[in-house]
Amino acid sequence: MVRKKTKIIKIGNIKIGKGLPIRIQSMTNTPTWDVKKTVKQIKDLENAGCEIIRVSIPDLKSAQAIKKIKEQINIPLVADIHFSGELALEAIRQGADKIRINPGNFPKKSLKEIVTLAKKKNISIRIGINSGSLEKDILGKRKKATAEMMVKSAMRSVKLIENLDFHNLVISLKAPDVLRTIKAHELLSKKTNYPIHLGITEAGTYFSGTIKSSIGIGYLLLKGIGDTIRVSLSADPVKEVLVGWEILKSLELRERGVKIVSCPTCSRSKINVIKIAKELEELTASTKKPVKIAVMGCVVNGLGEGKESFLAIVGSGDSLALLMKKGKIIKKGEEAEILKELKKEIAKIDK
Ligand code: SF4
Repeated sequence: MVRKKTKIIKIGNIKIGKGLPIRIQSMTNTPTWDVKKTVKQIKDLENAGCEIIRVSIPDLKSAQAIKKIKEQINIPLVADIHFSGELALEAIRQGADKIRINPGNFPKKSLKEIVTLAKKKNISIRIGINSGSLEKDILGKRKKATAEMMVKSAMRSVKLIENLDFHNLVISLKAPDVLRTIKAHELLSKKTNYPIHLGITEAGTYFSGTIKSSIGIGYLLLKGIGDTIRVSLSADPVKEVLVGWEILKSLELRERGVKIVSCPTCSRSKINVIKIAKELEELTASTKKPVKIAVMGCVVNGLGEGKESFLAIVGSGDSLALLMKKGKIIKKGEEAEILKELKKEIAKIDK
């Protein structure tokens, strides 16, 4: 795939755009003012591979917590602000690396103050357009915003901020359905060279949200569109990060951690593939080195898959299994014994 060469934008210590690695974002769901809880969640997310974190700023005490949070984390922090210019200004003063606003929600005077301070502090601004909160004059009498309307709103905001001589921008267009999101991004990508943050908003639960996000984000990435991604799930945000990585790994855009390859099982299966694969997926969730581990029910496809994997467990007789490493069989034995050996090998991966 050929990625669109968007403008390079800096977010704290990370650069995005122009073919640089696509970065994974997530958002905390703790009260931002509760520094201890928020830092703990961000640390868990960092550990899972989150590279940019967004926190919502609904009140002054949340804005005032930013400095303390930032002192204890390692990834750039984005402050998400709606309607209040005061909160946006306080978030920037507190050291936010980027702010996410919908410029249409702020009075002109307030927007000018925000943009002036962001420029002075040399931080970026994400223009976040959501299909559910478009300007009334763009929406007209329609109940549902179209992709064209979303792009019109985004480009109007871009103009508004560019007219204030600010060009350090990222854009996001969010809609809860896949087709509208895809169309809006394809249109937007033709109109602007700023980096684009991708996501299907309010995508749903872990199950349905993962599917919708994989299709929507995956399709756009394959078209070369998108510089950062967020998988929105009604679930633990750590899951958002893990799903995000799976999307990028599947498209061979990034490498990180273990890729589990497991067969769907059939009547030939000699070992409990479903249980083992699930167990290994959990065990390796925070492993960093990019390696493939295969869990295969029998030798039919198991040996071939094992040869292509760093580690493999392959069923080879009733409750018997083979342990393979770097394509070679290194042990044969009872399923439980081989699984134990495999776990020992997994423990060595990041060492
Ligand atoms: Fe069936 Fe063996 Fe293929 Fe698994 S690897 S699906 S057990 S034939």
